[in-house]
Amino acid sequence: MIDALPEKPVPGDQILAELRALREADLPTHGGRLFAYVYDPAVDGLDELARQAYAVSASVNGLDPTAFPSLLAMENALVGAAARLLGGDPATVGSVTSGGTESLILAVKAARDAHPDLTDPRLVVPSTAHAAFAKAAHYLRVGLDVVPVKDLRADPAAMAAAIGPQTVLVAASAPSYAHGVVDPIPAIGALALERGVRFHVDACFGGWILPYLRRLGADLPPFDLSVPGVTSISVDLHKYAYTPKGVSILLHRTEELRRPQYFAYADWPGYTMINPVISSTRSGGPIAAALATMRSIGDTGYLSLATATREAVQILSSAVTSVDGVRLYAPPETGVVCLASDGVDLFVLADELAARGWHTQPQMAYRDLPPTIHLTVTASVRPTADAFAADLAAAVAAARARGPVEIPELPPLTPDMITPEFIAGLAEGLGLGGGDFSRMAEVNSLLNVAPPALREALLTGFLSLLQHPSQ
Ligand SMILES: *Cc1c(COP(=O)(O)O)cnc(C)c1O
Repeated sequence: MIDALPEKPVPGDQILAELRALREADLPTHGGRLFAYVYDPAVDGLDELARQAYAVSASVNGLDPTAFPSLLAMENALVGAAARLLGGDPATVGSVTSGGTESLILAVKAARDAHPDLTDPRLVVPSTAHAAFAKAAHYLRVGLDVVPVKDLRADPAAMAAAIGPQTVLVAASAPSYAHGVVDPIPAIGALALERGVRFHVDACFGGWILPYLRRLGADLPPFDLSVPGVTSISVDLHKYAYTPKGVSILLHRTEELRRPQYFAYADWPGYTMINPVISSTRSGGPIAAALATMRSIGDTGYLSLATATREAVQILSSAVTSVDGVRLYAPPETGVVCLASDGVDLFVLADELAARGWHTQPQMAYRDLPPTIHLTVTASVRPTADAFAADLAAAVAAARARGPVEIPELPPLTPDMITPEFIAGLAEGLGLGGGDFSRMAEVNSLLNVAPPALREALLTGFLSLLQHPSQ
């Protein structure tokens, strides 16, 4: 147990040793064996540089750029680089946000507030759009129209049919997080232009790698501001720009489009608050660290990292194709390898991969889509990729030998039955009490058969159970 308010000061060396000890329980952020959450370029010295840059600006506050022009200059540099990479022109403007979710919430807010007259503003997305759009719609009380996809990609005709007089924004992904495939952005852009509606491209995942993959000859459609009809685009620097966490960019085609993104308030006795983003006080640390990372890697560096990533994706994909019992579920056209199983329990397979040191991300069944395993592939995977095939074959064999897990018998459940007591009992019964999450097949199988609202209630309850103050 850590005491965050000890009676007496604790020496710095001891504190750091304690932090390092705590970190040992975490998944490995380096070494190319973790396929979600972290993006590692495996470039020597880069972490240290980012840390130092972070320290230089950690206590600077982004609340007021006239007080801290250093941050304004850094943000303008980051936005300028993103605009250059993503088909912007001299009219392009943007904002630095804390992450993809914030970028998407703000894109939806700008679209909503551009139409104060509408009583039921609505957002049209393909079913593969990131969950952050649902969060934005929920927070902003914007209606969400989810349109089925065709072969995992947004279907422009179906999107067209979903656009109505209350639609303030259409969105699509480049690429989708779950499957890593790029939506037909030019066709949706043409549609948005014709219907006079804003069109946001969610390139949070791929915005910093797709341009380089295209340069390397990958057969990918145009997806950025160069496409007519695209009015905004988001890219997370903390993904394929390999910066430390907490930095994303939201670009708008023009200043006029960005205007309703701002929140301004002068009607109180304190300072006039003018916020382009959700947070008001903001640390300069992540911004300085991002700038340092990007300047250190540079355009040629990102091209090499994309080369390594592309090779790693090819190696992992061939492994999936060559091993009996698994198959590629989506074309590996970007940084994602998404696989489904044939005749082996997918969740047992994920556990068997984890037991061999490969930490993947299981994805639950959704409507007519089966459960899949998601691998976010970064440059750090290139040196380890060759070892994957043998381990995948062994993991499939082990999963086959173990057979499918038995789902614990539960009474029919509805979300309102999920009380803290029920969750505590269930967690105990599933062996999750001790904080060991390495054998998850049983839990995942249970969640997989739970309808979305029940799964939400179960996982919310579980997270709430974990999030109790230490005594
Ligand atoms: C990661 C991601 C997001 C959300 O970004 P966060 O930084 O996790 O808030 C949104 N869209 C896509 C496509 C993503 O990959």
